[in-house]
Amino acid sequence: MITRFAPAPTGHLHIGHVVNALYVWNTAQAHQGRVLLRIEDHDRQRSRPEYETSILEDVAWLGFTAAAPAVRQSQRGAIYDTALQRLRDEGLVYACECSRREIAEAGVAGVAGEDLRYPGTCATKDLPDAPGRALRVKLAPSEERFDDMLQGPQVQHPHEQCGDLLLRDRLGCWSYQFAVTVDDMDQAITHVVRGMDLLASTGRQIQLARLLGRDTPSRFLHHPLIMKAPGQKVSKSDGATGIRALRAMGMTPSDVLDLARAKLSSSQ
Ligand code: GLU
Repeated sequence: MITRFAPAPTGHLHIGHVVNALYVWNTAQAHQGRVLLRIEDHDRQRSRPEYETSILEDVAWLGFTAAAPAVRQSQRGAIYDTALQRLRDEGLVYACECSRREIAEAGVAGVAGEDLRYPGTCATKDLPDAPGRALRVKLAPSEERFDDMLQGPQVQHPHEQCGDLLLRDRLGCWSYQFAVTVDDMDQAITHVVRGMDLLASTGRQIQLARLLGRDTPSRFLHHPLIMKAPGQKVSKSDGATGIRALRAMGMTPSDVLDLARAKLSSSQ
């Protein structure tokens, strides 16, 4: 059993991450598994090395230990290139010149609400791959079923939710969906443990992994998020729940873990 803790270095560690870390390490312990650390810095605009340093430092301070040194998505370009080539060989990849605005104006909302559904505008244009163009993978309109370890049986329709999935954006950054799917396969992750905000992504990641040759998907556990106020999840810009600030107030690691548990139970 191998799971992972995969923060994006776009801010300092906050109490929501600590809740996730508790679920990740508890699940690993329950299955005699291992935890890998992955720095999800695929977003080159928002990722900062100083956040990576502070996240890793806070994770260690809290007492969470990983089975291997952290890997960093920004150093895994060759692995993503190989995966991309595999999809190209299957004839599944096409270049896309649509801007986010054009996609929004096409006005097809994804069923999951938070998604922008790509209507397939460039699918038949046969555009050459060129700077300033995104890359997408064709998704079949199929149904994905999985049994979430906490939320129970799920049915999702990725093609209706998001349309053909973005692999690389117009600035040349690998997309979250592609990078995370390749990484989970490459690192042989058997259990993905993460917050409910990513539940809607899971069907498309299972489908994409299958296109990349992974027939048996990992197991998934999506846990509740802690809320600042009803409907408002804690975010990185929320200084009051930043671990740095809690440390500066004199809290110990076990105080912070207790706080995370208390916030979780009061959010239920
Ligand atoms: N990097 C994502 C985050 O910080 C987590 C991705 C995942 O667990 O799949 O929210």
